[in-house]
Amino acid sequence: MINNTGWRYPERKALACLPTPLQPLDRLSRQLGSGQRLWIKRDDLTGCAISGNKVRKLEFTLADALSKGVDTIITCGGVQSNHCRATALLGAQLGLNVHLILRGTPEEMEVLSGNVLLDVLCGAEIELHPAGYYSKNLKALADDALKRHEQQGRKPYWITTGASDAVGVWGYVKACEELREDFVRCSIVSPHIVCASGSGGTQAGLVAGNILHELGATVSGINVCDDEKYFLKKILADLKLWKKKYRLPFAVDEWKINVIDGYVGEGYAKASDELLAMIADMARMEGLILDPVYTGKAFYGLLSEIARGTFDDAEDIVFIHTGGIFGLQPYAEQLRAVLSQ
Ligand SMILES: *Cc1c(COP(=O)(O)O)cnc(C)c1O
Repeated sequence: MINNTGWRYPERKALACLPTPLQPLDRLSRQLGSGQRLWIKRDDLTGCAISGNKVRKLEFTLADALSKGVDTIITCGGVQSNHCRATALLGAQLGLNVHLILRGTPEEMEVLSGNVLLDVLCGAEIELHPAGYYSKNLKALADDALKRHEQQGRKPYWITTGASDAVGVWGYVKACEELREDFVRCSIVSPHIVCASGSGGTQAGLVAGNILHELGATVSGINVCDDEKYFLKKILADLKLWKKKYRLPFAVDEWKINVIDGYVGEGYAKASDELLAMIADMARMEGLILDPVYTGKAFYGLLSEIARGTFDDAEDIVFIHTGGIFGLQPYAEQLRAVLSQ
């Protein structure tokens, strides 16, 4: 599809169950009493095992990989990475070898649960490194893995953390096509769109898609690691690479990037009892399942910001449910303790 503003999508492999529903959270909206309507874009329903936001990016990333004739995908993330799980499953589905470079301890893999259980189940090759070593040596680890597969006569392809790069931006540009239809159908005008930001690619795509598909929305990301400064830089960098790679005519430097900082808590993937209590509240009130690493923290941030009046200028607030259900399991013991208080 080429349109009048001079851009077109690159190749895409249809892998997600689309479109996902946009649903109102009416009981919660009433309880908040701020007069605003809260909506949820159910990207946790992009599949069953392959659920969440990563598959939207991987539709473009894996199409790029397949067009290059590769047979092996190498990527990285935490032991409970949703991105690695989605890549492992999609790799198996497409007949590709998948090699995961994971950050974590052997204890975290002792009892296989959640995402890493599925990684193992579908035959991904896994190498595990402690956090400090992983962070310091990720580039070298990736280069080593690429070289090793080449030496074995394979054709490997590297996907960066969270598939958040120039190619991955397209995933949520495309999602904005769906949002445009959702907004028309539900009479939503000038909404606030809010998502969790972990590697920035979802927000980068939403920022771009908001412009390209003329949604007229305000896009904000609530960071679940690092800080505002890091994400402003990372998201702009991804948009600039995207512009350059696809020779796009957009002034990406002028696009507004909003990062709402202050909800990381004690650190990435560290959950407070208060956070788990909110997750339980939402499950009971709306049947809404959030996870303690991404969507729960962002949703907690969203509710806090609504209470502070941050979104008072909008009638509709749309939260992107980016998935993460398999990340809930490792918190089962803490959750039990919270629920029994
Ligand atoms: C990866 C992930 C995010 C963050 O998306 P990014 O594009 O990495 O910023 C949010 N929610 C869930 C459940 C995720 O797995």
